[in-house]
Amino acid sequence: MKVLVVNSGSSSIKYQLFDMTDESVLAKGLVERIGIPDSIINHYPSNGEPVITHQDIPDHKVGIKSMMDAILHPDYGVIKDISEIVAAGHRVVHAGEKFSGSVLLTDEVMDALKECIELAPLHNPPNILGIEVCKELMPGVPQVGVFDTAFHQTIPECAYLYGIPYKFYKKYKVRRYGFHGTSHKFVAQKAAKILRKSLEELKIITCHLGNGSSITAVKNGMSIDTSLGFGTVAGIVMGTRCGDVDPAVIPFLMDKEELTVDGINKIIYKESGLLGLSEGISSDNRDLREKADQGDERAIRTISVFAYGIKKYIGAYAAAMGGVDAIVFTAGIGENSKETRGEVCEGLEFLGVKIDSEKNKTRGKEAIISTDNSKVKVIVIPTNEELMIARDTAEISVNL
Ligand code: ADP
Repeated sequence: MKVLVVNSGSSSIKYQLFDMTDESVLAKGLVERIGIPDSIINHYPSNGEPVITHQDIPDHKVGIKSMMDAILHPDYGVIKDISEIVAAGHRVVHAGEKFSGSVLLTDEVMDALKECIELAPLHNPPNILGIEVCKELMPGVPQVGVFDTAFHQTIPECAYLYGIPYKFYKKYKVRRYGFHGTSHKFVAQKAAKILRKSLEELKIITCHLGNGSSITAVKNGMSIDTSLGFGTVAGIVMGTRCGDVDPAVIPFLMDKEELTVDGINKIIYKESGLLGLSEGISSDNRDLREKADQGDERAIRTISVFAYGIKKYIGAYAAAMGGVDAIVFTAGIGENSKETRGEVCEGLEFLGVKIDSEKNKTRGKEAIISTDNSKVKVIVIPTNEELMIARDTAEISVNL
């Protein structure tokens, strides 16, 4: 059973074609610079060399057609006919309060996703466009939506409500939604497998640390709190996003700097975080580490704000769950940076967290990095959102 996974963004489309009989990846790729000059198709067939093609891609329709052409290509394609694709799964960032799991993308569901555009104006429109083009190009093939927000729909009211007038929740659905749900769910399930325990009996804190980052408290297999909220900007400091700030800072800066809504949004989403704190050194953890190693004070302070924020969330979520059995590190920084993992866990011995510095030297692969006698297991798990999407898609389409 072959399942296509599509992640359609504003100027790029990521894809992976899975053979679900053994969950192997037949091909993956990235269509870049859609609607921008010099578009590129990067196609990586698992049985051959990467193929990089330059072609004019004015819109998502042409982008998805190019993806199909690559998958079906007589020389470097991986299937002979489009009918071999049994179902397609789509990443959708925001599904509001409507969906707590993945669903078949019926017309009714599409309408509901369109209603969520105002909650995720940057993400949902290209996601929806990708689905619409796939529906058109693959008539009759089930299309499944897998939502970043879905896993967090189990968060209780006390954790998803903000302390603003309740009427704004009723009127505009202003509340914590949370994101990266597919990743948090994937690594939590994997952690249970690694620990040979049932997910239902575990309290896990999952730290997804990439360009966008979030921490989630997973109790008995359910998300009960998460650091991202209404938008994709709260919680810990991210590459260019500010994370938690006192809300009073926003009107203060708007007033002082004579900023419009767009102006302040640009600051909190694109000019803050690691980039802003380091006075422009970089939004990338590796660059900051390099500078910090050379003694650059700006990089050192940035890194310390980042690690402190994560540590604070771990403490808060241990309290929220009444304990913690495992802490998981995932995504670019979580999987690769022994320094970040070490700094975050330092001082958490009181919680029962003991890192083994030798085991912590691992990079990019699954590993338990806590000592054998550490009460709390600390685990590095590479995330795989695409596989999670493929699994949900296969399950839903088989049961149609
Ligand atoms: P995205 O949210 O865009 O998917 P990623 O999960 O790819 O982001 O994470 C990007 C982050 O991971 C960057 O800050 C990058 O510096 C960091 N990273 C990637 N590889 C390494 C590495 N080997 N060591 C330290 N940090 C790394």
